[in-house]
Order: sequence, then structure tokens, then C-alpha cells
Amino acid sequence: MNRENLIMVCTCEMSGRVRGKGFPARELPSRMTRGVGWVPTNAMINAFSKIPATPFGTGGDLILVPDPTTETNVDFADGSAHEHFFLGDLRHLDGTPWALCPRDFLRRALTALKEETGLTLLAAFEHEFTYTGVEERPGNPYSLDAFRRQGIFAEAFIAALRNAGCEPDSFMAEYGARQYEFTVDPAEGLRAADRAIIAREMARATAHRLGHQALFTPIIDPEGVGNGVHIHFSFRNANGDPVMHDPADKLGLSPTAQHFAAGILHHQPALCALTAPATISYIRLRPNRWAPTHAILETQDRAAALRICPTLPGPNIARQFNVEYRVADAAASPYIALAAIVWAGLDGIRNQRPIPTEGPALPATLEQALDALEANTAASDWMGEVHHNAYLMHKRGEAAAMTSLTEAEQCARYAQTY
Ligand code: GLU
Ligand code: MG
Repeated sequence: MNRENLIMVCTCEMSGRVRGKGFPARELPSRMTRGVGWVPTNAMINAFSKIPATPFGTGGDLILVPDPTTETNVDFADGSAHEHFFLGDLRHLDGTPWALCPRDFLRRALTALKEETGLTLLAAFEHEFTYTGVEERPGNPYSLDAFRRQGIFAEAFIAALRNAGCEPDSFMAEYGARQYEFTVDPAEGLRAADRAIIAREMARATAHRLGHQALFTPIIDPEGVGNGVHIHFSFRNANGDPVMHDPADKLGLSPTAQHFAAGILHHQPALCALTAPATISYIRLRPNRWAPTHAILETQDRAAALRICPTLPGPNIARQFNVEYRVADAAASPYIALAAIVWAGLDGIRNQRPIPTEGPALPATLEQALDALEANTAASDWMGEVHHNAYLMHKRGEAAAMTSLTEAEQCARYAQTY
């Protein structure tokens, strides 16, 4: 059959879904500048493909412009079409950033951090997911048997990650039923979020070719454990030296890192709405599921929102040293989740916030988190009023659609999407 190569350019807006438009590969040079057409209201498409309300109506035109650094072109060598796509920026027709461009939200946060502190953020996303290609068996957690029974998924996936420019770090069978986890190497802020999206899509693409699915939904079974997204971060100064660690501090954190962490904890209720944005995210965030339950910073405690990860003795402790934000899941756009962390952390630095001694419970529902986001004037400044209002409208519409469903029914609905 005659075939012609196609390329997609994609964004990952408030729903956390990766959407975009395709074009013939031969048109790439012109598409690099003119992009593809996009519609403001697309940002309001929720997890269930509905637009319960929109501030943008049916009007307006945007362009989605590919970023050349994100090109992903992976041949699975099985005769299937290449996974060839770019991630891009949402702009007005005159080229200026659109108020809801998720990459711009993150880029602005990283720029502000750099301008005000001289720091660059390194981040690595750790993803958990449910693989439908294995049967559920008791005794699975972390087992060699569960690792083996995923067949060739892991090998094909790791190869795809590497070909996509995401250096794979690890792959394992996790605690939950049919649950697996992978990590890719850290990268500078924007690239780290791009990688998170690319890596998840490689998992979906691999599973799809094997006739299965990689489900990143926050939780599958209300009685089980959830699929978290843990965002590891650290800072580098202008010389590229790590500046997160201070051996003199009892937690090992430099003063800047302490303020940054304190900013996150201070804004944690509002941050939840941005990093754990599904109704079922709050089923995951319950006690005794290895998921975080309190807005606290702890050394090596998995129930804490912020966990200081272990380091191994040796000369490179400062380089290994990183903090993990555990409250995210894959219903959140990685751009929005990381932007929220950076803005809140920067707010902690700006206000020299101390690490709180008390760790209040996280919001118990998405509605509570959205109320906290609405009341948070700093978050409205970071996002801009248009984005802030649209975000609340989007998620409240989604939450309203879930109110008459049981927890198991909600999990089933979200599993169809994520
Ligand atoms: N599955 C847990 C979560 O939902 C995390 C388990 C772990 O610590 O890796 O965040
Ligand atoms: Mg894990």
C-alpha cells in the first residue's frame, strides 16, 4: 500500500490529554512557523470529552506551533506508522503566547525563578500505571514473576523511550494489581515536562501495538492503590553546580531549598487542584496506600507531600540530593503541575517562608481543592485571571458530572480516558 509520512503537533492542556493536529511530513518546514490551527474552547474539553461551560464560546483562532526540541520520531519496526510528533506552544495569530498556553505557564515560572534567584530547575517524573496485558495474580508486588509476565512490553517500551530521547532510568513491577512504574532521567524544567508527556505516550504507543493499554488513571479500584506521578526536583546555579543540599541543615536542605519547599507546602491546598485534578485523585490520596496524605516535608516518608529522597554515601551527595513532590497524578498536564510547583516554590523564596512544623491534611475532595485554588490570589497572579477562571470552570464542570456516580463508577469513567 502506498503510504505517506504524517506528523502531529500536540499540546497537553488542562485535561492532561495530549491532543493536536496532523499534517504531511513534507510540509514540516512551513508548519514549523505557521503551526496548525487551534481553538480556544478546546482547552475546555474535559476528561469525558465534554465542554459543560466555556468562557471562550465558539469563536477565536489560535495556532499551535511545534517546538523543534520536542521532535519525537520513533519507528517500532513492526510496519506500523512512526510515532512522529512535536509538542508545541499555543499562540495568537500574531505569535504572542495565549493566556492558557500550558507550556508558556511553565516557561514563565522557570524564567521568573531564574531571573529572581539565578537558579535552574532540574526535574524527573516518575510514573506509575496499570498494564492491561497481564492478568492479576496474588503475590505480585515487586515480583520477578510480575516483571516477567508483562512479556516484551518493557523491552519495547524502553527501546521506544531511548529512541524518543528520554533516557530511561528504571522499570519495575509496583505494589498494585497489574501496576508498573518507570522513571526517566532528569532534565531541565521545560524539557522535563515535555519528557513526561513523551514518555507516557511511548508507553501508550507500545501497549497499543501489543493490543493492550497502559492506563495512567489516578486509581483503578477504590479499594486498591493509586497510580501516582512523583515529580523529583533540584536546582543548579549558573555554573551548573547543585545548590539544593546543605549538610549543616538537619534535613540537609539549603536555605533556598527550604523556602522553596515551604512555598509549596503553604500553597498545597490550591496546588492540589492543579496537580491532582480528578475527582478520583482524592481516592488515591487516602491513608495506607503509599500515597501522600499531609502537606508536610519529611525525610523518606511516603505519606508526606514532599519527601526528601535518599542519597548514597560518597562524593556526589549534593548531586544526588533531590526532593520529590508526591501529590501529582496523570490527570494533570505535566506543564501545569510543574508550573504550579515552581510558582509556589518561588513564592516561598520571595517571602522567605519557613518550613511549617505542622502538616495539615490534604483536601479530601476535588471540590475542596478547587475552592482553595479560587481563594488563592497568588495562584490567580501566576496563572493570570483568564486561565484561573477557566481552570475552575473546567474542573467544576467535570466534578459536577461525577456527583451521582459511585467511586467505582468514577474510577471506571476516568480509566477510559487516562
Ligand atoms: N502508588 C503510590 C502513589 O499513588 C506511590 C508508591 C511509591 O511510593 O512508589 O503515589
Ligand atoms: Mg512507585
